[in-house]
Amino acid sequence: MDQEKIAKLQQMIDESHKIVFFGGAGVSTESHIPDFRSTDGLYHQTYKYPPEVMVSHSFYVQHTEEFFDFYKNKMVFLDAKPNKAHLKLAELEKAGKLSAIVTQNIDGLHQMAGSKKVYELHGSVHRNYCEKCHRFYDVNYVMKTKGIPYCEECGGIIKPDVVLYEEGLDGNIMQGAINAIADADMLIIGGTSLVVYPAAGMIDYFRGKYLAVLNRDATSRDKQADLCITDPIGEVLGQIKVRS
Ligand SMILES: [Zn+2]
Repeated sequence: MDQEKIAKLQQMIDESHKIVFFGGAGVSTESHIPDFRSTDGLYHQTYKYPPEVMVSHSFYVQHTEEFFDFYKNKMVFLDAKPNKAHLKLAELEKAGKLSAIVTQNIDGLHQMAGSKKVYELHGSVHRNYCEKCHRFYDVNYVMKTKGIPYCEECGGIIKPDVVLYEEGLDGNIMQGAINAIADADMLIIGGTSLVVYPAAGMIDYFRGKYLAVLNRDATSRDKQADLCITDPIGEVLGQIKVRS
């Protein structure tokens, strides 16, 4: 762990009062949620399509049963708990230091940690709606049904409120996230290598003082950043002291 860099991050956070955290899959890996795009051996043995295909809108429509098989096995982790990164960000918000979290994750762990202002760009596994009558179902209902989950009320298919490939992001959520980023005095990019657009392009709205990148691998924004830390994000944020 690079203590000099962590001290610098601490100083930046101490000086800032409208921090926005922009996060991706790497934030949840310390909660044992793997990135579904990672091509592990098990995945190759189990599925005959690449993950990007299986979480596309057309695949959902044409191969609904296989979609739910992949979705339940590779995208929903009900036992996952918030890690030190989630908890510290919630603490920063409570202390009036952090104004919003913008996340590409769908696991709901920020809310579980206590964060209130969370823009979920790609939706959440915790919200599911009947395609016909729009009745709400929680994630447990979806997970406990075998195969395709159907509405108790009308028999429609219950679709997770998760943005699939080929589907657009929610305009209101995007606008809220852009406004928060444009208004921020510090932007922390964490656990994402910023390859997924349009989410990644939202960073361009930042006009604040400090840009910090906390990511295991190099990102396209490292050159612009005032600070880059490659140590595990939970370990890094876990060391930050919250002073209002
Ligand atoms: Zn229904």
